[in-house]
Amino acid sequence: MRTHLGRCCLTLVLAVAPAASAQVPTPESVLGFVPGTDRKLVEWPTLVDYFRRLAAASDRVTFRDLGRTTKGAPFIAVVVSSAANLGRLDELLAINAKLADPRTIASDEERAALLRDGRAIVLVTSSIHSTEVGGHLSPTVIAHRLASGTDPDVLRILDEAVLVLVPSLNPDGVNIVSRWYNATLGTEAEGTSPPELYHPYVGHDNNRDWYAFTQVETQITIDSLHNVWHPQIVHDMHQQGAFGSRLFLPPFLDPVEPNVDPLIVWGFNTLGTAMAWDLAGQGKRGVVVSATYDAWTPARAYQHYHAGVRILSETASARLATPIEVRPDQLQGRRGFETDVASWNFPQPWEGGRWTLADIVEYQSAAALALLRQAAANRELWLRNFLAIGERAVRGWEGWPRAFVVPREGQPEAALRTMLGILQRGAVEIRTALQPMSVGGRSYPAGTYVIDLRQPYGAFAKALLERQEYPDLRQYPGGPPRAPYDVTAHTLPLLMGVHVDRVRDTVTVPLSEPVQIPSPSYAYAAVSQPAGRPIGLYRSFTAPMDEGWTRWVFDTWGVPYQSLEDSLIRAGGLHARFGAIVVPSMSGRQIERGLSDSYPARYRGGLGTAGVQALREFVQAGGTLVTLDDASRWAIEAFSLPVRDASEGLDDQTFYAPGSIFRLHLRSGDPLAAGVPDTTIAWYEGGPLFEVSDTAAARAIGWYPQAGEDVLLSGWVLGPERAAGRGALVEARVGRGRVVLFGFRPQYRGQTLATYPLLFNALRPLH
Ligand SMILES: [Zn+2]
Repeated sequence: MRTHLGRCCLTLVLAVAPAASAQVPTPESVLGFVPGTDRKLVEWPTLVDYFRRLAAASDRVTFRDLGRTTKGAPFIAVVVSSAANLGRLDELLAINAKLADPRTIASDEERAALLRDGRAIVLVTSSIHSTEVGGHLSPTVIAHRLASGTDPDVLRILDEAVLVLVPSLNPDGVNIVSRWYNATLGTEAEGTSPPELYHPYVGHDNNRDWYAFTQVETQITIDSLHNVWHPQIVHDMHQQGAFGSRLFLPPFLDPVEPNVDPLIVWGFNTLGTAMAWDLAGQGKRGVVVSATYDAWTPARAYQHYHAGVRILSETASARLATPIEVRPDQLQGRRGFETDVASWNFPQPWEGGRWTLADIVEYQSAAALALLRQAAANRELWLRNFLAIGERAVRGWEGWPRAFVVPREGQPEAALRTMLGILQRGAVEIRTALQPMSVGGRSYPAGTYVIDLRQPYGAFAKALLERQEYPDLRQYPGGPPRAPYDVTAHTLPLLMGVHVDRVRDTVTVPLSEPVQIPSPSYAYAAVSQPAGRPIGLYRSFTAPMDEGWTRWVFDTWGVPYQSLEDSLIRAGGLHARFGAIVVPSMSGRQIERGLSDSYPARYRGGLGTAGVQALREFVQAGGTLVTLDDASRWAIEAFSLPVRDASEGLDDQTFYAPGSIFRLHLRSGDPLAAGVPDTTIAWYEGGPLFEVSDTAAARAIGWYPQAGEDVLLSGWVLGPERAAGRGALVEARVGRGRVVLFGFRPQYRGQTLATYPLLFNALRPLH
């Protein structure tokens, strides 16, 4: 009987499935090659065409056009599941929305039914970083396998899970990188990074935007995917360097940001390890877990505050689509493992050899399928724990403040709306007091904003509104710091200059329903007296992200500017055309030498001596040169300024602050400090600490607190006394003009609205 049943089912599967798979287009039939073929990349329209055709041919796939990117390309997703699940997708979405918000569940019976009838929702996103080119192609392989597969493995995934697949979180970058790669094939520049940012504004930092939501691609992903689908699991496919492990999977290293629910931590520990186990069974070598990447910043992990588990996968790279040979002696361990030593988290090293795009596509798609198998096999557990996270959030965590209270009066309007708008986009409910209230010893008028933390995404609000205390992690006791994977602070009220009160008591006055926060309006003219002549913004072919962020801030605030490439600056005559020129944060070597000789002539060489001389003449003639962060180190040398960088020569054990919020004092009444409170913040990320040696020629407009007052407001600092009293913003006179030196990032990742006016003020021409 058992045998008969087995045969029966097998026959059924075979009878149904091949008909579907016969019509499903292969990636090769649309792309013109098998994904992973050496030296073959296509641009975005071809990939979109593939997913459209796949959806048209398969009843397991639907196509979604979700909006337009920065450069106007379609931002798409495909939904993949069994035809039966897709036929009742609205019902499945409604079930999942209820599981995401336990307040909507009426009874234990309903709860049990939701867990029984729901499906695991898995969001897989790819190629946010466009030079990680395996990510352009792997989604076609994953989607095709699920659309055409007839084996029980695939059928189970389709039955138990709904996959939302985003073939690229950055379609503009697919075009930028593929065009560059195809144009340089067979030349010396084959396999190099393009001489521009691969996200039109923010390059690699597009994966640091998951709470600030500054870029349109981030906004689409949050509004149309995360907040609609509420995935239990999110898998973001990346590539790492060529010479480490072949694939990283979670667990992440410490520290885990303290507002992440422990169930999420167990989720990524378990799922990442199970995927590694599955891949090892398929003979994949060189897989590491618990290495290199930590889980501190919400800038990379929206889902960690929205009940979802984040699986970061990082496959080793080749040279874009060009294969490489890796010698064993080139392999290098990163934090947490050695490449030539088997260990608990890296039990099967890879010995080196040829590494190709096909390997990358194979590891990426195998990892995605391993993840889907786990989601399918443990569907009910995923749903149950997802619900439990929401239940704990709504009940409230012991030791947490009860609410954050945000007064309306006396706040900078654009910053207030930006900050609350971020929370709102993050699905945080913001209410207002319907009566005057007194709480925590303070009185507030009716209309005051109240964010009660007992709500599904209270952790998102708490993480972004409180100050961070990054743990003092060392490589060994008493040794150098263990660097965080990214930065250490994300306190929005400090970054934006908005006053927020933390409240331990229950707010007892009646509150409104969640309110809609009005959109902020950004106007440079309203903040600073606009510059008379346009501003020049140096745009290096080395493509520093700080340039992109500056351009984004200028575009958003309506600052009139022109991008200046090397040739324009080298040509000289700048003072007649520009009142101020901004050099974004980048090294002196990048500024003066630019790209190497492997690039075509047009992109090589940086400013060179001619460009530096042209900038000197510009300032001598009365121009204002504004240098940001690292570029200020270059300016001190290039202009022989009477300023010393006191951070020079300090090792990490002596002074270290890898992305923290510092306290900053400003010279009261100075035009450069206009419109900013005398005490404000500085986003400090290893920038110079100024010491002025000739106060007649240079003066500090901003400085860090003297010893005795804390310099650190949020994040981490070692040796804060090294910064005590040091200059952070200096104006140095040169000829008829000036150089304005920033020792911090006044426009950090589009978040430091508190210090934008300092940058805007500096753009005003002297003459
Ligand atoms: Zn990446």
